[in-house]
Amino acid sequence: MHVMVLGAGVTGVTTAWYLRQAGFEVSIVDRQPAPGMETSFANGGQISVSHPEPWANPSAPLTVLRWLGREDAPLRFRPHAQAAQWRWALSFLHECLPWRSRRNTAAIAALAMDSARRLRELRETAALHYDQRQRGILHLFYNRSSFASVAARVRELQHFGMDVRACSAAECVAIEPALGHVASTLRGGLYAPDDESGDAHLFTQALAERLREDGVRFHLNTRIERLSQTGGRIDGVEVRDEAGRTGILLADHYVLCLGSYGTALMARLGVRLPIYPVKGYSLTAAVIAPERAPEVSLTDESRRIVCSRLGDRLRVAGTAELDGFNTALRPERGRMLADWLNSRFPGAIDPAAATLWAGLRPATPGNVPLIGKSPFERLWYNTGHGTLGWTLACGSGAATADLIAGRRPTPRFPFR
Ligand SMILES: Cc1cc2nc3c(=O)[nH]c(=O)nc-3n(C[C@H](O)[C@H](O)[C@H](O)COP(=O)(O)OP(=O)(O)OC[C@H]3O[C@@H](n4cnc5c(N)ncnc54)[C@H](O)[C@@H]3O)c2cc1C
Repeated sequence: MHVMVLGAGVTGVTTAWYLRQAGFEVSIVDRQPAPGMETSFANGGQISVSHPEPWANPSAPLTVLRWLGREDAPLRFRPHAQAAQWRWALSFLHECLPWRSRRNTAAIAALAMDSARRLRELRETAALHYDQRQRGILHLFYNRSSFASVAARVRELQHFGMDVRACSAAECVAIEPALGHVASTLRGGLYAPDDESGDAHLFTQALAERLREDGVRFHLNTRIERLSQTGGRIDGVEVRDEAGRTGILLADHYVLCLGSYGTALMARLGVRLPIYPVKGYSLTAAVIAPERAPEVSLTDESRRIVCSRLGDRLRVAGTAELDGFNTALRPERGRMLADWLNSRFPGAIDPAAATLWAGLRPATPGNVPLIGKSPFERLWYNTGHGTLGWTLACGSGAATADLIAGRRPTPRFPFR
């Protein structure tokens, strides 16, 4: 049986791996010349199992109101005359209800724990190297009120089965000595020793290489223009190559892994996917003073900024903008990340040599991805991973392969 994966980001390529492991014939289609060139290109690098809480939580509406209109706000809403944007924003508010937020957190936590376990297995089996680091993730709190909630958060994460602990500012510095510079401003932290980091782009490309060796066919530079359906069943994918030639690709099943762009194709079939592009930025630079750069991956909870050491590079990522499909780089966002890095780890990198990047997180309002059956026969979803696509890639890919093979996936998650 032939399964065609639509999209070669980290989600699509990982899905292809698990489909291949399950014995399917697999092909992948992507408009880019290589896998992992869009949102999976330069993300924050965190395998952040210890951060299952979605942005949509009971404290979010107030926080967003406080940030409204501030150019340096971690979350920025740039209103468009687009029904999709307003619809998404309203659904986001709905997902902030305490019981919805709790339910979403539990679903993401279950999938994330399964995913992290599978990532460890996969990298052994496929002998992958992607600048991975198993030093845990340290969440940092700079203000008293947010640190006050850490004990409850630790209890909730432990209840899910995670190994996490609260730490004092001094303990944070013991875990990551490069924080010594800001120790006096830190209130404390939450440490998840089992969390990891690594370069999602390198991972995607290395895994794609293994898949090629295993006979998976890649249709690159191939834009999907339309999903063709007859009587509620998908019966082909209309594509155009870079020379403008059109054609139709056929398979027995299709999996939608197109990041933020699946919405347009599904809209043409009359289906509204609850996914909106939430833009984020990253800044990557070579480390010039290793003793000043962190080794442990960090999450600054007050600024919503993450930082990962990727080999001899340091990457800092964050910010969220609801600004449609606009991927233009705003220099003030880059400055925000550079200032953060410079204030925490002065001299660790040369800011003049840093590369700024922006990508569109394919976000559902509650950050819970859509995995499972679509309303069309033969078409499956594995999309909408929002802030956690790298963390959830292996679990989501394995679950999709299980569902197509007629097996029940292991995590307690609302599969479709
Ligand atoms: C700044 C930032 C920081 C982040 N940090 C983290 C982090 O630390 N940890 C974490 O877990 N997650 C993080 N994420 C989220 C994560 O990067 C995404 O969730 C993930 O990359 C989504 O992967 P994807 O494969 O679904 O989408 P993509 O990587 O965007 O892949 C979709 C693919 O579909 C292709 N495509 C789209 N339309 C078409 C078409 N019409 N025809 C053919 N091909 C098409 C694209 O070329 C692309 O290759 C971050 C995101 C951002 C923006």
